[in-house]
Amino acid sequence: MRLNADYHTHTLYSHGKGSIRENIEVAITEGLERIAISDHGPACYGFGVKDAATFLEIKREVDKYDRLYPEIKVLTGVEANVISLDGKLDLPRFILEELDVVLVGLHLPIKPLSWRDGVGIIFNNLITYKLGLKATTIREKNTGALINAMHNYPIDIITHPGYRINIDTQMLAQEAAKSDTALEINASHGYLNEEFVKVAADENIKFSLGSDAHKPADVGRVEPALQVARNAGLGVEDIINVV
Ligand SMILES: [Zn+2]
Ligand SMILES: [Zn+2]
Repeated sequence: MRLNADYHTHTLYSHGKGSIRENIEVAITEGLERIAISDHGPACYGFGVKDAATFLEIKREVDKYDRLYPEIKVLTGVEANVISLDGKLDLPRFILEELDVVLVGLHLPIKPLSWRDGVGIIFNNLITYKLGLKATTIREKNTGALINAMHNYPIDIITHPGYRINIDTQMLAQEAAKSDTALEINASHGYLNEEFVKVAADENIKFSLGSDAHKPADVGRVEPALQVARNAGLGVEDIINVV
């Protein structure tokens, strides 16, 4: 099994360390056929892009390099944030429609849509994470927010499910199967982990391996994720970006 596309890479537009061009050049060296530039949506405190319109700027740059480097397909993506319990994202639809790949993650801290969403998503998660409590209600809220997002928008990939966030993997995977959304095995954060992959695989979903590169040298580096996939018994047919 070998990676042929990395859909999860960050640049200086959010809190990555390199430029779009540098990410592309490493992807070519790594032998990838496709790369997406998928910077953080604007709702991430301190590390998101400046505003939603920045993605139009990124798209112009991506399109320029896509013409300049015919050996690789360069895609404009986003790692958008869920900002409300009813599954709203931090980008307006007219911007999402301009993008080639939509990744969505549940991140903390984010700027929530309302104080109620703030309590529901941020406060409760931080408290349970800090105390290490197993909180069924929080898991239902987190899972529900992601499921609602899949209902509301066409989402290609849910990033690192379970990373710092309590998730019902089976329920998430059932909706992902219906919505044709892949769940990510993230090489940087270790989620989905092997146990979660096995649970999700029972629902016949697709997986995506993501480097979550925050510097160009990490583009296409997904060995830990490949190892999780192998250990969980996944094959090429289960993963959207390997051959
Ligand atoms: Zn993320
Ligand atoms: Zn990321």
